[in-house]
Amino acid sequence: MKIAVLGGGQLGRMLALAAHPLGLGVRCLDPSSKAPAGAVAELVVGAFDDEVALGRLAEGCERATYELENLPIKAGEIMASRMPLHPSLQALTVGQERVAEKSFFRAHGIAVPDFVSVDAREELESGVAKLGCPAVLKTRRFGYDGKGQFVLHSPSDVDEAWVRLGGWPLILEKFVPFSRELSVLAVRSAEGEIRRWPLVENHHVGGILIASIAPAPKLDATLEAQAAVAVTRLMEALSYVGVLALETFQVGDTLVANEMAPRVHNSGHWTIEGAETSQFENHLRAVAGLPLGSTAAHGPVAMVNLIGTPPPTEAVLAIPGARLHLYGKEPRLGRKIGHVTVLAQSAAELGDRLERLARVVPVPDAAVASAHG
Ligand code: AMP
Repeated sequence: MKIAVLGGGQLGRMLALAAHPLGLGVRCLDPSSKAPAGAVAELVVGAFDDEVALGRLAEGCERATYELENLPIKAGEIMASRMPLHPSLQALTVGQERVAEKSFFRAHGIAVPDFVSVDAREELESGVAKLGCPAVLKTRRFGYDGKGQFVLHSPSDVDEAWVRLGGWPLILEKFVPFSRELSVLAVRSAEGEIRRWPLVENHHVGGILIASIAPAPKLDATLEAQAAVAVTRLMEALSYVGVLALETFQVGDTLVANEMAPRVHNSGHWTIEGAETSQFENHLRAVAGLPLGSTAAHGPVAMVNLIGTPPPTEAVLAIPGARLHLYGKEPRLGRKIGHVTVLAQSAAELGDRLERLARVVPVPDAAVASAHG
């Protein structure tokens, strides 16, 4: 079976790498001829709204999926008119707009920060008065890696916030005083079976994910239970098939949902070596209608993103348990060009190995401290 993938970035590349052993073919569509998936999968070069390119993508494929959510809905509709598209168009639509997404979470009993929708300066002023400060102003669409965001520390920041982001459809959210960020990764099959990987602890710098630790250290059973309820409700409501990532804030012993990604996710890269079945393989299994694999973790794992500059390969590979993944991308400031997964038998060993990695690539101190357990 051949699977059509909208997008040919690193996620498409890792999907294709997982597809080969299963005997599945992957064809990706991407606007760039240098898209990372091109080295390991068929690549159609074209815009996502180019109907001829979409036709070439679809040719001979039996299922379609996507590896990015900022897609024209029309591209999803065209693929869905030719073959089953997973995750559903509804999941794609809800995941693209922050107000729709948070309203959907709330309607399904999932806690979210208080928020208001902002389309005019007066709404920003009344929103700040209603929610109080600090508050986070974000674009409703096309925001990722902390782009299109501004934190208001006091009502006097309204001027600057409006200069930066005014004119776009916006959302103002109450700033969540979280103790840490956790993501929930789960997969649902076409028959409705849901499997969940352990919760992942994420460390962001400037809105960009830098490191993940899995299973998240010091986990309370109530957090896992909340995560299970949240993804089950979302996946069932969206008739979801494939991998879903839900990014949350831990506040006390409660999970507060920030956003969802209806696709494989950066905080799940550790599953390639660190879990019985990776997020990429289970996504493909779900999309292709195959049985799901176990989501159990092998042990404590850390994943560190390589951002902007190439890593010293020899120094990274000299660390026991370290596995290097390069995406074949031109290094550029702020660009994710690869990641390193560090495997260990115990928290102490993971902490030591991550400390070694931190000497050669940037790793947040908090991530190293947390890995020690
Ligand atoms: P997002 O683009 O929504 O994923 O936000 C990027 C990062 O900004 C998150 O991972 C958090 O670290 C931070 N952030 C976003 N929204 C909030 C919020 N309401 N309160 C506190 N921090 C936030």
